[in-house]
Amino acid sequence: LSKTFHDHRSHLKLVLLCSAVSGGGILAYGELAPSEAAVTDKKKVVVLGTGWAATSFMKNLNNPRYEVQVVSPRNYFAFTPLLPSVTCGTVEARSIVEPVRNIFRKKKVNVQFNEAECYKIDAENKKIYCRSKGNNNLNGKEEYEVDYDYLIIGVGATVNTFNTPGVVENCHFLKEVEDAQKIRRTVIDCFERANLPDISEEEKKRILHFAIVGGGPTGVEFAAALHDFVKDDLARLYPGIKDLVKITLLEAGGHLLSMFDKRITAFAEDKFQREGIDVKTGSMVVKVSEKEISTKDLKNGGEIKTIPYGMAVWSTGIGTRPFIRDFLSQIGQASRRAVATDEWLRVEGCNNVYALGDCATINQRKVMEDIAAIFKKADKSSSGTLTVKEFQEAMHDICERYPQVELYLKSKQMRNIADLLSEAKGDVKKEPIELNIEELKTALSKVDSQMKFLPATAQVASQQGIYLAKCFNRMEECEKNPEGPLRFRGEGRHRFKPFRYKHLGQFAPLGGEQTAAQLPGDWVSIGHSSQWLWYSVYASKQVSWRTRALVVTDWSRRFIFGRDSSRI
Ligand code: FAD
Repeated sequence: LSKTFHDHRSHLKLVLLCSAVSGGGILAYGELAPSEAAVTDKKKVVVLGTGWAATSFMKNLNNPRYEVQVVSPRNYFAFTPLLPSVTCGTVEARSIVEPVRNIFRKKKVNVQFNEAECYKIDAENKKIYCRSKGNNNLNGKEEYEVDYDYLIIGVGATVNTFNTPGVVENCHFLKEVEDAQKIRRTVIDCFERANLPDISEEEKKRILHFAIVGGGPTGVEFAAALHDFVKDDLARLYPGIKDLVKITLLEAGGHLLSMFDKRITAFAEDKFQREGIDVKTGSMVVKVSEKEISTKDLKNGGEIKTIPYGMAVWSTGIGTRPFIRDFLSQIGQASRRAVATDEWLRVEGCNNVYALGDCATINQRKVMEDIAAIFKKADKSSSGTLTVKEFQEAMHDICERYPQVELYLKSKQMRNIADLLSEAKGDVKKEPIELNIEELKTALSKVDSQMKFLPATAQVASQQGIYLAKCFNRMEECEKNPEGPLRFRGEGRHRFKPFRYKHLGQFAPLGGEQTAAQLPGDWVSIGHSSQWLWYSVYASKQVSWRTRALVVTDWSRRFIFGRDSSRI
């Protein structure tokens, strides 16, 4: 309201001023109105993608000085955290997607959407090359180019198969809505096939063996969802074969959910064991054929074992899209797997190109340079030691700029330094504890090789989108009055404050109406109450009231009638 009042007041002032100058001519008001001024020098922003990063950027962009063109092969936004629920029909596919035109329609900014994919970025000439999908011919041509003033890359990532033979041909992935729908059909298909007459018991067992590769959040959540589907719904409908069903979770590392707190990992492993989900840790999949998976047992000297299976789902992390790989070589980042940006999300080595979400990473080398610069400053006077206060001052700026450093320090390997940091932050009275600078430097240098940068999550992507939209909204204002930190090199301040990730916690649904929640401050909660928290958070995070209503209705339908097992 105050903004509207302010806007009206400034218009009123202009009207009065122009009336005075032009003898009351209303035309003069029209000529001087800010909106008209904006029309003349519109900057063209091209946004690639309609996922978490790009959509949150678009939702928050509200400066009419931009003309936006969005290019994506998907004309909808998909709420990916509910994809595992789609695989078993707990939630319908259409309930978790929102047409992007619905989102853009409400914007003050002029937005155009093209359903096409970008296949090349020419950062030098500020152009992108696009290909329309399938039959959408553009006067017989399927390819076209688009110029930009600013390019926002939010194209996410692909699946990572680690070049394991047979994975692409034989495994399902769980990345897109179509993948989840395909998995749902295949699960039912396996049950129908195994139920046909004249099939040997051994073959039935093979068909009903569901192998999941990857013990991260997606693999674990899918295993839990599938187990619930079988136990709650399919066992009733296929009584003759229900005892032949087996779910195996293969994980190359030592534990499931290794990025979660140890208590959650232990709970998940125990729960799965109790429920008959076969968890095989230390099992690296080396080959997948049509009916068998070969694994290397890392715990037993690399023994190769083969497991017959009916359906396999591969979820072992993310890889780089091919056109992003080309772009990386073009800008001198060929050795990277994601586009390196600075902490303002600007792509290193390009002008006016920004990257966010799963396809981007904040440059590690630069963090190290900045850490070194700050330590150099702190180093100059003292005799190889720092007081807690000096340490606090040295680290404060680093943690402000690079929240991932603080997150990393809190991880297990660096717990002692994180404790020192917390002490330093909270209680300066702890003086005169002295910290050995060399030891600190050695410990911090590990950051370079071990620091896990921002995780590839919707939470990071969407916060980056909001941050970047705010920067774009205030571009002219901050050009005049920069509000960022002092520049390391050169004079003056940066225009904007750097991006700061705020970790709001993470969930791991474990089936049976139980969820593990790890909230900020290492607060862990596991069980039915967290499941209700999960329902509330995911309902509230829906992109529109329409999808919110659909998702809640689907959950209620499942409670009352169970999941639908028709293979359509
Ligand atoms: P995406 O959301 O993948 O969007 C990429 C966009 O780019 C898409 O619109 C795509 O069509 C478009 N695109 C692709 N190629 C091109 C091209 N050539 N040209 C133009 N556009 C292109 N994160 C969480 O925080 N919490 C969770 O619970 C969670 N659960 C998940 C469950 C599953 C099953 C999966 C797969 C992911 C989950 N994630 C979760 C991770 C989260 O989905 C990703 O981190 C997030 O989608 C990344 O957002 P993004 O915008 O970078 O990419």
